[in-house]
Amino acid sequence: MAEELYEISKAAIDAARERLHAISGDIWNHPELNFHEHHAHAVLTKFLEEEGFDVERKFVYDTGFRASYGDGQPTVVLVAEFDALPEIGHACGHNLIAQVALGAAIGVKAAMENTPRGKIVVLGTPAEEGGGGKLGMIQQGVFDDVTCALMAHPAPDNKFDCDGDIFSAATMVKVAFKGKSSHAAAAPYDGVNALDAAVMAYNSISCMRQQLRPSYRVAAIITEGGLAVNIIPELSRMEVAIRAPSKQEVLLLLKPRINACLEGAARATGCELQIEWLSFMLDNMISDPLLVDLYGRHASSLGVEESQQTGSVFTASTDMGNVSQVVPSIHPIFSIGDSSCRNHTRGFAELAGSDTAQPFTMDQSRILANIAIDVLLHPEWIPVMKHNLKSRLESDAAKAAADAL
Ligand SMILES: [Zn+2]
Ligand SMILES: [Zn+2]
Repeated sequence: MAEELYEISKAAIDAARERLHAISGDIWNHPELNFHEHHAHAVLTKFLEEEGFDVERKFVYDTGFRASYGDGQPTVVLVAEFDALPEIGHACGHNLIAQVALGAAIGVKAAMENTPRGKIVVLGTPAEEGGGGKLGMIQQGVFDDVTCALMAHPAPDNKFDCDGDIFSAATMVKVAFKGKSSHAAAAPYDGVNALDAAVMAYNSISCMRQQLRPSYRVAAIITEGGLAVNIIPELSRMEVAIRAPSKQEVLLLLKPRINACLEGAARATGCELQIEWLSFMLDNMISDPLLVDLYGRHASSLGVEESQQTGSVFTASTDMGNVSQVVPSIHPIFSIGDSSCRNHTRGFAELAGSDTAQPFTMDQSRILANIAIDVLLHPEWIPVMKHNLKSRLESDAAKAAADAL
């Protein structure tokens, strides 16, 4: 039966090709920043309503939505992102993520019309770029009755199993060093130099990097360092972002070392230190092995193969990582036709809006639709995936505890 449903799904997705392209083009032409995706919210919800989905607009956020078809369990969520970046527009290709979800939803719905099983949901999640939009949805219980959550993200290469080594846990801290101003020539000895503190903290962090594991990332910038060269700076500010393959490593191994660098610099210079860690944290991605296996099988059947890794490994963070810690999930990355183009560049923005990206994006809709059909046909997988996630969380916690000793 599954083969027949895949065919129905594929036919429905292919028949919607022009409209899917038009809608992602429309979003690409109207780039909107996190929590301000009003145009995308309007066009995506209109499309899904016209396709027969039960649409809840302004869901959790002004620009969030939930569109459902069917009832009961299993419940498969297709995650749509649609926000853009400042200045460089859709340089992360979220217009294509929305397209993938819409296309897959159309396919699954067409298949379910013949064989009603469970529920398919398109979840419109705003503010992936820096806003952590999915976290509010998790807190409000949106994923409580969800069997699994699927999405696919455009990138330079194809990679099916994108776990914490690709989508790391991340958090950041805003730092202020407060010193004392004085005339830089007349009485420098009366001052307490806040810029020195920031420079020392930066240098300590730089030295520390050599002793970090290769999968860890620390980025630091000094955002304020004085007002005039003849005044000893009384205030400096910096920001530090930290990433590691698991949230436990971020919290237990990296964060204390960053705090030590900051405290050391404050102590050495006599500055007062103010640190403000981000109130939320992006968790590392946990890929469900059953879903990864299904993804690989359906990708191969469509001729989509994993890229041979040639250059540096793609590393990023996403609020889908947080989702993956509460429901079984996948977040594969897919090439859109030019592996020399990297996310968050003007070149990638051009590519995400081009015709070149379209056949790759259409393939992802077909793959995710087939996975959703599989899950809907196999409610006995629900406890299997739940068990996978539970044992993975337990083993991650045990590993982190051992690392921290
Ligand atoms: Zn991005
Ligand atoms: Zn992105």
